[in-house]
Amino acid sequence: MRIDTKLIHGGVFGDEETGAVSVPIYQVSTYRQEAIGKHKGYEYSRTGNPTRAALEALIAELENGTGGLAFSSGMAAISTVLSLYSQGDHLVVGDDIYGGTYRVLSRVFNRLGIEATYVDTSRLDQVKEAIRPHTRAVYMETPSNPLLKVTDIEGLADICREKNLHLIVDNTFLTPYWQNPLDLGADIVVHSATKYLGGHSDVVAGLIAVKDEDLGEELHFLQNSIGGILPPHDSWLLMRGMKTLGLRMRQHEATAARLAEWLARRGDIASVYYPGLTDHPGHETASRQARGFGGMISFDVGSAERAEQVLERTRYFTLAESLGAVESLISVPARMTHASIPYERREELGITEGLIRVSVGVEDVEDLLEDLDQALR
Ligand SMILES: *Cc1c(COP(=O)(O)O)cnc(C)c1O
Repeated sequence: MRIDTKLIHGGVFGDEETGAVSVPIYQVSTYRQEAIGKHKGYEYSRTGNPTRAALEALIAELENGTGGLAFSSGMAAISTVLSLYSQGDHLVVGDDIYGGTYRVLSRVFNRLGIEATYVDTSRLDQVKEAIRPHTRAVYMETPSNPLLKVTDIEGLADICREKNLHLIVDNTFLTPYWQNPLDLGADIVVHSATKYLGGHSDVVAGLIAVKDEDLGEELHFLQNSIGGILPPHDSWLLMRGMKTLGLRMRQHEATAARLAEWLARRGDIASVYYPGLTDHPGHETASRQARGFGGMISFDVGSAERAEQVLERTRYFTLAESLGAVESLISVPARMTHASIPYERREELGITEGLIRVSVGVEDVEDLLEDLDQALR
């Protein structure tokens, strides 16, 4: 089955009982047992729920994994993955990962004795140097946020295999539609399904997919033990959104490519970051390991004042955090999502106060171009 067909027929298709073509919402907490321990596979909805199970089967299939799990948020999924590790364990982590992931590592898991070293994972030599005897995993995102740096997943997977480390990839930005990290050697894929997978700014959810069955069982044990599960109604909403993932991702990308090229041609933009541009440093790696470049663009307008003006003047780009929805969103990472990083460190990374991040929606591209043009002028 090819991916566009998987989005419709993958996982569980409809309902055997009634012939309904949509998976029913099993709004239930517990299940009748015919005798003690004799049941139809479901005992209690924290442990398993048929609506959530359909979603979990779908993400497993989309990521070419053996198992999938659904959580109440991306952070619940990520925290459950991090619960695989114990006091004294060490992780090597990308230095421009999602702020919430950095926060939970540096303010929660550090208290439990799990240490992290932050490196630029697009530089494999930096990853190698950071590995210690107690390192258990490498955690990364590609493309990264907000500078869209690209990490060679296969190259990193080789290092991890040699050192017996888990490779964990946050695949939120490209989704399984464009990139399948498990096929490239990763062990665990995590998603904030709140973003592209849901796609309509109406559900908060997280997903995991794994390659190895034993690791899948261990993570299911943790999901059931910690309990951050996705409720049945939200599981259904997410599957509803995911049916159109292909249509949306193709549109997001076509429009993002037009905008990025248009921005790069202008004389009044200091730099444009989009992996689809041939002069982007990660363009070659991105072309090799992914089927598309996604819908996220960052560009530097030169100053904090100009960035603020642009954000005030755009009509179709909504000023908001988050990304991946049908409506275009615009933000200044240095003053919003990345404000907790010290000024000097931000400047060093290239996250300047004039840097604007756009999540390109599915509006008419001409309207978006005209809107950005008037805002920039
Ligand atoms: C939003 C996001 C998260 C966190 O997900 P929530 O659903 O907000 O908990 C993790 N990683 C990335 C890349 C994100 O964009």
